[in-house]
Amino acid sequence: MNKGGVFIISGPSGSGKDTLIVRLLEKLPELRFSISSITRGMREGENQGEKYNFITREKFEDMINNGELLEYNTYVGNYYGTPKAPVVKAIEDGCDMIIEVDVNGAAQIREKLTDAVSIFIMPPSYEELKARLSGRGTETEELIDRRMNSALGEIRRASEYDYIVVNDDIDTAVNDIMSVILSQRLKTERKSYIIEEVLKKC
Ligand code: 5GP
Repeated sequence: MNKGGVFIISGPSGSGKDTLIVRLLEKLPELRFSISSITRGMREGENQGEKYNFITREKFEDMINNGELLEYNTYVGNYYGTPKAPVVKAIEDGCDMIIEVDVNGAAQIREKLTDAVSIFIMPPSYEELKARLSGRGTETEELIDRRMNSALGEIRRASEYDYIVVNDDIDTAVNDIMSVILSQRLKTERKSYIIEEVLKKC
């Protein structure tokens, strides 16, 4: 059996990456999803262990000190990190894993897992990003500007990624991500078992 692949997905707030990932996991249910450990409080609609494991700062710092994290970063005063063990297990089990992280986390993973494939989810235009971040028009200009600046900061680092998926039409964007994953599965290094299987009979 060949090893599984790691797919990093990042994108700014307003790129729609969370919705895309939900749809992707419905279409390719064999994909594993990396559940991040984080120290921020749970928001309405979130459940423990679904997308995140909500843990204390003390527990998070223990995980750092014990080398249990593949990467971690702080965001608005809270820790966010990817536990290493489930990723290593997915690779060993021959399963593909999706890891959703910010641009800093993505850079840390690329350094450790050089075969990881990274995908950046891009809004279709500046205007559309602004419209999405403005929400229902109830936010102040200052808040919208802060969100825009943070999103633009991430977009400035999009060229670090292997693939850019533009999220204009959601079905097209999901299909684009699937194309990346499915083509990766056809790579020669992931098919070496079939070459060996056929040749061993001769
Ligand atoms: P939120 O608090 O809105 O759910 O997420 C805030 C940011 O943290 C998003 O940009 C998200 O991609 C990022 N993030 C989520 N999980 C992780 C993680 O495990 N590691 C890192 N570095 N960033 C994460």
